[in-house]
Amino acid sequence: MDREALERHPGGGRFSVDHSTAPIVVAIHRPQSEVGRSLILQAHVDVVPPGPSTMWTHPPFEPVVEGDWLYGRGGADMKAGHAANLFALDALRRVGFQPAATVYMQSVVEEESTGNGALMTHLRGYSADAVLIPEPEDEKLVRANVGVIWFQVEVRGIPVHVREMGSGANAIDAAYRVVGELRQLEARWNERKAGLEHFENEEHPINLNVGRIEGGDWASSVPGWCRLECRISIYPGRSADDAAREIANCVSDFARRDPFLANNPPIVTFNGFHAEGYVLPPGSEAETVLGRAHQEATGEALRTFMTAGYLDTRVYALYDRIPALCYGPYSENIHGFDERVSLSSLERITVTMALFIAEWCGLEPVVRSNGTEADT
Ligand SMILES: [Zn+2]
Repeated sequence: MDREALERHPGGGRFSVDHSTAPIVVAIHRPQSEVGRSLILQAHVDVVPPGPSTMWTHPPFEPVVEGDWLYGRGGADMKAGHAANLFALDALRRVGFQPAATVYMQSVVEEESTGNGALMTHLRGYSADAVLIPEPEDEKLVRANVGVIWFQVEVRGIPVHVREMGSGANAIDAAYRVVGELRQLEARWNERKAGLEHFENEEHPINLNVGRIEGGDWASSVPGWCRLECRISIYPGRSADDAAREIANCVSDFARRDPFLANNPPIVTFNGFHAEGYVLPPGSEAETVLGRAHQEATGEALRTFMTAGYLDTRVYALYDRIPALCYGPYSENIHGFDERVSLSSLERITVTMALFIAEWCGLEPVVRSNGTEADT
């Protein structure tokens, strides 16, 4: 992770102490002769925390198969897709073929907090004619995707013994007031959906999540500090810088009107995602090829939809300007308890991917190490 380069980039996630230093792994397939279109197959290996394990039916990090479902944190989001990247190529190889174009297999981290893993591969210069990321998207193709911003709000108070509460100031109470103001910001951003294709028919396209709250030290002391960790989304076409400015202004304008916060202004820090959304323009050749492959694998037409969570595809759509396809298996409860992925769906989308690779990249016979072509 080249922190300087990432933070200089308009889509670079802001570093926090939790930022991963794990390596990003890129494997490259080079064909005998480069006749087809090149491709990036990408997946992320990081997962979100499991939450209290008592709320899981099975321990979150012990994968269990029951009927068609594989359970476990990260099973759907997105070890399944990561496996599909490998097995789609393996399926072609088993019938004696390999892609007739360069294929980059990218395994990244930081998808769940900054998007810096994907961005780092872009900054290192990896590019191709298209990218496919098999996130768990219920066998649909993502047409539009929001951007995501993470920020932290630190609120101070005046800590006193609770018997003199009137002379102190409660930082947790003050944080509640800030959250109230942020909810109004969220409501205003949702109203802006009017006239926005892919968003105006969604009931609540912009979600603010207060994901973590910490504060105070003792039940009988008025708390002198409180910290909120927040996440909000933005519509495609809006810059992350612009949205971040509006968030910071919203908090500081509110603080000026609040008798206590006016003299103790909260501190807003951007500490993760600083990502813009994207729209996949319809009609690309890559989408047509994926649609054909999906039709063959599933017997159904490929559907598209808007998704209101962060996706690494934005890096390729916005900065590489290549067709960025996000398409993967059926899942349930990702980021929740009892996360699970449908194994029959995983097989179907792997078939789609193998057929997509075959047509997009073209095929050539696998040459064995003894120089003979594999039996097809
Ligand atoms: Zn994911």
